[in-house]
Amino acid sequence: VTETTYTLISKNEVLQSYMPREKFAHKGTYGHSLIIGGSYGKIGATILAAKGALNSGSGLVSAFLPQCGYIPMQSAMPEIMVQTDVNENTITDFHFNLKPTVIGVGPGLGKASETVEAFTKFLQNNKIPLVIDADALNIISENKDLLKLIPEDSVLTPHPKELERLIGVWDNDFDKLEKAKLFSLELKCVLVIKGAHTIVLYKGKGFINTSGNPGMATAGSGDVLTGVITGLIAQGYPKVLAAIFGVYLHGSAGDLAVEKLGYQSLTASSIANTIGGAFIELF
Ligand code: AMP
Ligand code: MG
Repeated sequence: VTETTYTLISKNEVLQSYMPREKFAHKGTYGHSLIIGGSYGKIGATILAAKGALNSGSGLVSAFLPQCGYIPMQSAMPEIMVQTDVNENTITDFHFNLKPTVIGVGPGLGKASETVEAFTKFLQNNKIPLVIDADALNIISENKDLLKLIPEDSVLTPHPKELERLIGVWDNDFDKLEKAKLFSLELKCVLVIKGAHTIVLYKGKGFINTSGNPGMATAGSGDVLTGVITGLIAQGYPKVLAAIFGVYLHGSAGDLAVEKLGYQSLTASSIANTIGGAFIELF
């Protein structure tokens, strides 16, 4: 067992990395986020992620979806540019004509065999930084050969079940953190262990989030976070800072939203809509 230093993520830590908006900026200054995911019946996950990326300040946000996602995404969010797969219901070829700064992949993706095959090819050829979540993580867990294709400094955002599929079962919390740390060191990735106190692990260091509340244990909450971290990387935040800033901002948005809505009625959409409030709350 090796020693890990843990730092609490609070407003002060986050403010140190905050990148102010420049007066003479244009949308190109703040990068281009691409959200890849969605399958029939799970397009909403990509809408939540796109909203997370846009509301966290990404200059441009695109989505690559199966065809059935085209109208829902364009109708939900006029700001988003959409390209679609050749297939109606699921992604079968990660073939898009875009030059994104960063890609957030996984929300609603599903695990159809064609999708698994296409995702494998994508990982073999891709050079763009990745935020990997949800079914993209599950596909990797079921095909451990894919682990070595994950680009260095990728951000992985598993919830507890997804983490278990990635690193195996643990005996207790210490064992969990030790296994997770070794995993992140081996992959050279930023590992975001989501939960009541989300922990970011990177290069053997741990960062523990202090924002957020149990109202956030609700459908789609994590998809918003994927978008937020993707959007921060697009703007130029180094990956680990994007993860740290992102989990704090996401939790803080949840804390603001719960004041108006209550724990039971807090929704992922309301978290996404309150990200702006969370930025304002920093000052
Ligand atoms: P997912 O399971 O992928 O939708 O992700 C859930 C999101 O909600 C993560 O960002 C978690 O950190 C957050 N979350 C879940 N449960 C809680 C909780 N009890 N307190 C604070 N945040 C939570
Ligand atoms: Mg999730």
